[in-house]
Amino acid sequence: MTTISSPDARAPLAAELPTIRAAYPALGRRVHGKPLVYLDNAATTHKPLAVLDAEREQAMWHNANVHRGVHLLSQEATERYEAARSTVRSFLGAAEDREIVFVRGTTEALNLATATLAATRLGPGRDVLLTGMEHHSNIVPWQLACQASGASLRVVPLLDDGSLDMEAFDRLLDGGVAVMAIVHTSNALGTINPVQAMCAKAREVGAISVVDGAQAVPHGPVNVRELGADLFAFSGHKVYGPTGIGALYGRAELLESLPPWQGGGDMIRTVTFEGSTWAEPPARFEAGTPNITGAVGLAAALDHVTGLGMDRIAAHEADLLTYATGRLLADIPGINLIGTAPAKAGVISFTLDGIHPHDIGTVLDHEGIAIRTGHHCAQPVMDRYGVPATARASFGLYTTREEVDALVVGLRRVQEMLG
Ligand code: PMP
Repeated sequence: MTTISSPDARAPLAAELPTIRAAYPALGRRVHGKPLVYLDNAATTHKPLAVLDAEREQAMWHNANVHRGVHLLSQEATERYEAARSTVRSFLGAAEDREIVFVRGTTEALNLATATLAATRLGPGRDVLLTGMEHHSNIVPWQLACQASGASLRVVPLLDDGSLDMEAFDRLLDGGVAVMAIVHTSNALGTINPVQAMCAKAREVGAISVVDGAQAVPHGPVNVRELGADLFAFSGHKVYGPTGIGALYGRAELLESLPPWQGGGDMIRTVTFEGSTWAEPPARFEAGTPNITGAVGLAAALDHVTGLGMDRIAAHEADLLTYATGRLLADIPGINLIGTAPAKAGVISFTLDGIHPHDIGTVLDHEGIAIRTGHHCAQPVMDRYGVPATARASFGLYTTREEVDALVVGLRRVQEMLG
């Protein structure tokens, strides 16, 4: 039985923003003499004091290696590391702690998925289905796996508004697809894909579903069992946690069926020179000393966002997206929004007529406004919409309407200077 969380009846998050923002020291900074307006949350989010304190406490008082020592500090470190795993399990709505593998981040999770599935599932006529809006980390590992296994890549095309072409998806997904690997929420377009329906269809044809949840997890409630994903990856640093830590969820029976990825300490049952046997998941996939401090920090971040309420965060960001889209279209002539799908997260990719995105980013930086410019590690998306790069403003739980107003003023300044 999966549990569906009931909507949070508390007041909108906006009312608490001054208090919330005070917990993020970096947001109080000045940049080039101006108050920082941080609109690069899709690249990485800032960390609240609760996360920094949890990491410091772990490193200062409970530092020891995990799963190895009989001494008290090692037991404490192990308990805290494993408690962090439970926090991730509950955050994702997974059934069991052993379904959560700690990794460095989404990229490592997807490489783990790719390597182990390539060894067991892919081959000629046993293909991989991706979408045209994947991040490079969900393209390149599959290309390598296809080269090694003889499988082919199939790619679901995008519609003009940044949605998936679901008719093409239905045509491309057949019994020749062994793995469907799809992004939940696009970092370049903001599009939120119908992942639940896609995983159900993948299951019908016997394909394993791999979901890149890097941009989904920070922006709203996620329940891997409701989604029906077989594997689901995310990064701590995009959900207000530390860098260098993330998790891969895997359905228990699937993880059990997968071979080891990296070899080393902690992932074995027995080792002789004649051969070795493997530990059960998740240890099988966690070779070597893990990022213990990072895991504890990640748990603090997840407690922080669940304490605020994931549905309140989603509602706040949806309000910002509507407000920002309206203001930009009304007040910035010559703006082109890249990605206007009906289901969209708080990510606005755009170009301005006659001005290179990098120049937009540089002028805004001098106004204290941090946005991202470039191809966003999604070059096929840029090719699809015929642009070399875009400027991207992305929102977080602490973003305010005043910051959106500052962006609009900053873009006017860009146009005065460069237009
Ligand atoms: N997928 C998506 C959709 C992303 O936005 C990112 C980060 N930009 C990644 C994967 C890779 O995440 P990381 O760099 O934390 O491994």
